[in-house]
Amino acid sequence: MDHFRYRDGVLCAEDVALSDIAATVGTPAYVYSTATLERHYKLFDEALGDLPHTICYAMKAASNQAILTTLARLGAGMDVVSGGEYARAKAAGVPGERIVFSGVGKTEEEIRAALTGGVKQFNVESEPELAVLSRVAAELGVTAPIALRVNPDVDARTHAKISTGKSENKFGIPISKARAVYAEAAALLGIEVVGVDVHIGSQLTELEPFEAAFTRVAELTEALRADGHDIRRLDLGGGLGIPYQNTNEAPPLPFDYGALIRRTVGHLGCEIEIEPGRLIAGNAGILLARVIYVKEGEGRRFLILDAAMNDLIRPAMYDAWHDIVPVKEPAAGAGRVTYDVVGPVCESGDTFAKARDLPELAAGDLVAFRSAGAYGAVMSSEYNTRPLVPEVLVKNDHHAVIRARPSFEEMIARDTIPAWL
Ligand SMILES: *Cc1c(COP(=O)(O)O)cnc(C)c1O
Repeated sequence: MDHFRYRDGVLCAEDVALSDIAATVGTPAYVYSTATLERHYKLFDEALGDLPHTICYAMKAASNQAILTTLARLGAGMDVVSGGEYARAKAAGVPGERIVFSGVGKTEEEIRAALTGGVKQFNVESEPELAVLSRVAAELGVTAPIALRVNPDVDARTHAKISTGKSENKFGIPISKARAVYAEAAALLGIEVVGVDVHIGSQLTELEPFEAAFTRVAELTEALRADGHDIRRLDLGGGLGIPYQNTNEAPPLPFDYGALIRRTVGHLGCEIEIEPGRLIAGNAGILLARVIYVKEGEGRRFLILDAAMNDLIRPAMYDAWHDIVPVKEPAAGAGRVTYDVVGPVCESGDTFAKARDLPELAAGDLVAFRSAGAYGAVMSSEYNTRPLVPEVLVKNDHHAVIRARPSFEEMIARDTIPAWL
């Protein structure tokens, strides 16, 4: 469920007409709903109910400070994957004890920053990382709490580029080696083993892969406890998918995911950490764009928008589907047209949809890409020297620009011409 609805013939974010935002902020622009962000966070919180738990929002999905602050005020922790994300989480007021640090390539500098600023745990992905962590922690005279990210060799049955739990993926430590690496970790200076971590991929639309992974984590936890480790936290990662298309086939709900967690690992008495990203932010955001031209091609009609692949790369990168809807509600029985929906960038990959059946549109009309809140703005770039797409947050009848569109002057001023040139 989200808070983007037609009202009086205009698509609104909560109580604000998207046409009003387009008029003041311009297009393209991302627009987020506070109520949807909050609702999704609370769904997970309720799904885990009385299990001791922390929801560490995977902020790589959408990391604007206003979004982080919204979630932090609800008590959210954060899953960070870089020093930059760690700094963002701290700047949003998230205390170190609610931040988990994930990622296959943490640098010594990033590790030092997190150990100094406070961290709930490092999700360690390799033995070399463990060695660096131990050395840096010992140098600083502190102890690093760790979970090992295990790779359970489970097929998440999602897009190959966002599948992370198969043995051929770069992520985690093979679960078959886990006991040996835990023994090694426990013997290292400056390391305290606190838990087990797993994350098998993103946009999962079935519960079975989670069930297989969590069952393996439960078995491993019992084996590790028998080996003498005090495993008291289980980080089950993120990955729950969202509906991108308005069809009957909806992915599992947080409530059922919560029940699965209870069933597979609930008996272990561990604190549960989960790291949802997409499900919290995805349907909380849209990308607002305007039609520049309707162009008649040979045997096809192109809808050329002012948004492009640099603003929303998911269709080009993952062949992703985003529902595209007109901001002005089409009249009942209005004509429909098949369009190739494209942007102005000089690449054929700059195609949002092929042969998409849409209500008839004209130059100047506004459209919204639904479900664009996660892995949208964060993956945008300034390719073709198109200004970084701005972000707007709505709450009830308030809206504010939470990241401004840079001017051409600001963009140019970031470059430096060497004196010797
Ligand atoms: C990307 C990622 C997540 C979030 O995945 P979603 O599909 O957005 O829920 C969680 N944990 C880790 C380690 C990740 O890399």
